[in-house]
Amino acid sequence: MGVAQDTDALVSIQGVVKDFGGVRAVDTVDLEIRRGEFFSLLGGSGCGKTTLLRMLGGFETPTAGRILIDGQDMADVPAYRRPVNMMFQSYALFPHMSVERNVAFGLEQDRVGRAERDQRVSEALEMVQLADFGRRKPHQLSGGQRQRVALARALVKRPKLLLLDEPLAALDRKLREKTQFELANIQEKVGITFIMVTHDQEEAMTLSDRLAVMNAGRIVQVGTPGDIYEFPANRLVGEFIGTINVFEGHLDADSGMVRCAGLDLPILLEERIGTGGSRGETVAIGIRPEKMRIRKIDRASEASDVGAGTDAAPLAANALTGHIEDIAYLGDLSIFHVRLADGRKVQVSRTNITRRRDEPLTWEDAVAVDWDAAAPVVLHQ
Ligand code: ATP
Repeated sequence: MGVAQDTDALVSIQGVVKDFGGVRAVDTVDLEIRRGEFFSLLGGSGCGKTTLLRMLGGFETPTAGRILIDGQDMADVPAYRRPVNMMFQSYALFPHMSVERNVAFGLEQDRVGRAERDQRVSEALEMVQLADFGRRKPHQLSGGQRQRVALARALVKRPKLLLLDEPLAALDRKLREKTQFELANIQEKVGITFIMVTHDQEEAMTLSDRLAVMNAGRIVQVGTPGDIYEFPANRLVGEFIGTINVFEGHLDADSGMVRCAGLDLPILLEERIGTGGSRGETVAIGIRPEKMRIRKIDRASEASDVGAGTDAAPLAANALTGHIEDIAYLGDLSIFHVRLADGRKVQVSRTNITRRRDEPLTWEDAVAVDWDAAAPVVLHQ
């Protein structure tokens, strides 16, 4: 397969393909998920993440390839025999049953004795902080509480692997943020491997130890949230995760300089980010808005103005000038849309560390924007 075998892998996905008629939903995926990990499959609508999750659960059969869970090939193992539980987006609680009975249901099916069943149900409810809610019916609970019942019901069976399909999608934004932390804490406490499907990059970043970004049935990049944000493998990942300014230009591999159309000054790359490419190679460079500094200058018409207004000598690289076209004030930070001379727009964000009465930057201001050589990242196609 060409994939290094990770001895600590709980799940090993090897060359897995899924075709639905003429549609290739999952295209030759190789992936290892470690024991105890909170792993996310992240991608836009139709990228194949749910199909991959359903194959792990045994609800779909791969067209080609193998799935091993804890070293065992799942090819002939039906869903109900897998050491796996799935928490569905709808939670699928039984409305006529109490919370306790909802949680106990799977154990009853497995004919677990009453004493053990009661013990495990109360432990699971304790875990999700619903110990006092056992006698309520689902309609007497808030959305967040219903979500936790669904989680308790999945955990009570002590699966080796829990699959979560957009587990927080039904919650409103504030509750989702709070629940994200609860979910991460619970996962850490129980030590069960979680695989979550989501299209919400913030959710994947907050919850996951590692995540895979998918596009058109394939995995584009696997890494920790930090790896993926700071070193996106390509433009697609860079643009999908957070916001990134992209500049295309020609790389001079010797000097590490990239000359970009529309920028007066070149972009200088820190040595370690070098592509190893040849002179004149066309590259796309990404710079995140929070890695740029912005300040007011007198006029944006000349490159030499970049250094104006400070004691520093004019900058020779990694700077641009333009006009502020838009400002989004978000409370904790402000986002500036800076229009360059050629019409292109660049986004710069700034943390509002002081409570400014007179915002020194305003619409139409001429500004200089600059960044450190460590800020730009090469985005491969
Ligand atoms: P979403 O976030 O919208 O749920 P997804 O990334 O989970 O998207 P999948 O549900 O895995 O995407 O679907 C991947 C592709 O496979 C899509 O093009 C979809 O239309 C197709 N597909 C999924 N299930 C079936 C099916 N049962 N029959 C035919 N095509 C399917």
